[in-house]
Amino acid sequence: MLDEIKSFLEEVGEKSKVDPRVVKVLQSPELVSKATITLKRGEDLETFQAFRVLYSSIRGPGKGGIRYHPNVSEEEVTALAFWMTIKNAVVDIPFGGAKGGIKVNPKELNEEELEKLSRNYVRAFAHVLGQDFDIPAPDVYTNPKIMAIMLDEFEKLKGRKEPGFITGKPVELFGSKLRNISTSLGGFFILDDMVKRMELRKEVAIQGAGNVGGNLAKILHEEGYKVVAISDSSGGVYDPSGLDIPEVLEWKKQGKRLSEFEGEHISNEELLELDVDVLVPAAIENVIHRNNADKIKAKLIVELANGPTTREADKILVEKGITVVPDVLANAGGVTVSYFEWVQNRTGRYWKEEEIKEALNEKMLVALRSVENFAAKFNVSLREAAYILAMKRIEAAMKYRFGLK
Ligand code: NAD
Repeated sequence: MLDEIKSFLEEVGEKSKVDPRVVKVLQSPELVSKATITLKRGEDLETFQAFRVLYSSIRGPGKGGIRYHPNVSEEEVTALAFWMTIKNAVVDIPFGGAKGGIKVNPKELNEEELEKLSRNYVRAFAHVLGQDFDIPAPDVYTNPKIMAIMLDEFEKLKGRKEPGFITGKPVELFGSKLRNISTSLGGFFILDDMVKRMELRKEVAIQGAGNVGGNLAKILHEEGYKVVAISDSSGGVYDPSGLDIPEVLEWKKQGKRLSEFEGEHISNEELLELDVDVLVPAAIENVIHRNNADKIKAKLIVELANGPTTREADKILVEKGITVVPDVLANAGGVTVSYFEWVQNRTGRYWKEEEIKEALNEKMLVALRSVENFAAKFNVSLREAAYILAMKRIEAAMKYRFGLK
């Protein structure tokens, strides 16, 4: 993964003429912290590897989630911290990039053990975290409840209140309204804008019915779109005249699989190849690959999942003239509202829903326009344009910091 970052940086650096000195600095993370966390389970002592990587603080304090997953490694966390650096620069929020994680299967721990593990994580890394240094958030298998525990531990250690230390907190503990749907809402603002300008049919197929896919389906349905297909890991449901989304979501809420929902069933592969104008991958990575990219009929793909398109597939989609709004832009609504949460915590003034919606809409559309302008200027895809925009912003900040000519 780290080799991929290096080759990516060189490729974008060359295309956009980013200063090679800047490219070189960005090839290594600024600060890698690791710890072994010990947990007493029954009469056993178990150890867990934990990480926090501040990849870049050129544009501000680090910002990125903490994931609990058996696949967590130093390399993975570092790569994810790099992508956060790019994403935060694309939407122009005043943060660098960071990420954290614990190599653990959280499903094997009970609630008390999970709480202890989370408190221990904060104790291990408190010296490299803080509202002006590096600000965590939820990621895979971490949630608002864990953020609340982490805030509590951090404030106890520091002997003062600092709600801006972490985002994605429960609203009752100074989290932001709309944070739970912010990724979907930000994605919707972009999708809706593109559909109108590209004069597409208001028909969407969504892969994934979790937090992101489910909330997007709800918003689209409320805004008069037809969601013709949606899936979970068991498969998808399809109705060309538009699914009854409230019913689908109620089914999911009851913990049931979509393969058992009444109606016409399709596989996850078939969903991606449907004859719809808009396709939204909102589940997992690498689902659009060289073997199916050629079969995709959508005119617009809005990537709400992280990394749903492989590099090879991306080239095929570009050749076919399909417009792809890349993940680093399309799913940045989550981190953008995290930024709003941090602003609210630091000013002590809490925003109404309408204010958050308006500010998110503006941030997403300004970022989209900037990416489109770069795509036109450098004659590249929206994905490459987003990377170039981010690199140019980081370059500009770095030049001032180091007084480079
Ligand atoms: P989630 O766990 O709530 O939902 C994931 C969905 O994907 C579920 O419906 C699951 O059934 C489905 N799924 C799992 N394996 C699948 C497979 N093999 N084929 C098809 N569907 C499958 O996760 P989420 O929070 O909705 O995140 C979804 C994606 O969005 C991830 O790539 C995540 O990194 C990305 N993302 C999420 C956020 C956020 O705020 N939650 C922010 C940015 C990016």
